Amino acid sequence: MAPRSHALLNASGSHRWLHCTAAPLLEENFPDSTSVYAKEGTLAHELCELKLQKYTTAMAKSTYTRKFNKIKKDELWQPEMDDTSETYLEYVKGVMLGCTATPVVAIEKRVDFSRYVPDGFGTADCIILSGDTLHIVDYKHGKGVVVDAERNPQMMLYALGAIDAYRLLYMFNTVKMTIVQPRVNNISEWEIPTAELLEWGNTFVKPRADEAISGNGKFEPGDWCRFCRAKQQCKARYDANDSLYSALVSNHDPRLISMTELGEYLRRGKDVAAWLEDMKDYALTESLNGVTVPGWKAVEGRGSRAFQDTDAAIDTLIKAGIDESILYERKTLTLAQMEKTIGKTQFNDMVGDMIVKKAGKPTLVEESDKRPRITNQPTAAQIFNVSNDNNGGN
Ligand code: SF4
Repeated sequence: MAPRSHALLNASGSHRWLHCTAAPLLEENFPDSTSVYAKEGTLAHELCELKLQKYTTAMAKSTYTRKFNKIKKDELWQPEMDDTSETYLEYVKGVMLGCTATPVVAIEKRVDFSRYVPDGFGTADCIILSGDTLHIVDYKHGKGVVVDAERNPQMMLYALGAIDAYRLLYMFNTVKMTIVQPRVNNISEWEIPTAELLEWGNTFVKPRADEAISGNGKFEPGDWCRFCRAKQQCKARYDANDSLYSALVSNHDPRLISMTELGEYLRRGKDVAAWLEDMKDYALTESLNGVTVPGWKAVEGRGSRAFQDTDAAIDTLIKAGIDESILYERKTLTLAQMEKTIGKTQFNDMVGDMIVKKAGKPTLVEESDKRPRITNQPTAAQIFNVSNDNNGGN
């Protein structure tokens, strides 16, 4: 295949194409769809930008109010966006106030990292330049995946672009990157010496980007497959999961595997469940399109009963003597739903001190997860206290 170059390698997909250099060209065969969550994120970003513009420029109050009201009229508007954007603003203010030299702030700055990635560019939410430090702050509205700033390739690519943009004016020794993800209470910070970042760009990113656009990319299935547009039909992912699935089911007697093997299977098998769901979605879509998937067919799911006109049916029941109170159920919203509807600040002002935190259900995560390890076993301190108590009783 002839080498090609166009804006194929975006920063947001870099975690994927830096691992699987074959992905970008394969993904071109599949439509790029935008979810409602992505649109919500865009709206929340608009508000973050507006608030930061107001803080850093002489924006008239009337201009701010008009723009804010326009955002509020959007059908995707949610009161919690006012709170989450405030968290972002407060963080950026904190960075600016903590700078030892007068900071220069660039908001929604287009950065060009094509020195490393052909036609590579992106938009950094906020860049703060101060002394020999470059700060990159990124707002994330999603709450499905907690995003870590450490070695985050999207942030690192933005940083490479920002270094390029300001290299004639500034000499940066350190790059600080922050992800502000208020809906999961995540503020993740990480810093790297500029020289190390440039080395990463030249020796890690550049060769992989060149390989990805060359048409000779290598398939590398992994947990990054879950956001790949080719994930339902990718043969490499199929082969990897199929062999792993076979290995898992051939272990007919789980009592014989060691803890080391169990840990390894769990790590390597993370994608199997997601992959099976993707296979099912794909097979259903194809079956509904009239394609035969041997051994499978699409059928109508178990239906449910419903009134043609609920209001009319309830009216009839009441007129027939059924007490209205037994036809309706009054339910409170969940705490999170109330907070979202009322807005975090107002909600906390009113009932914040009435909230207690209940422990969540134990869940298995990878060792790298930041939450502390829990166990049902008593700790040494507890054993010690128990034995002291026993001694005291003697
Ligand atoms: S599904 Fe996974 S292995 Fe296949 S192209 Fe996408 S990222 Fe690569």
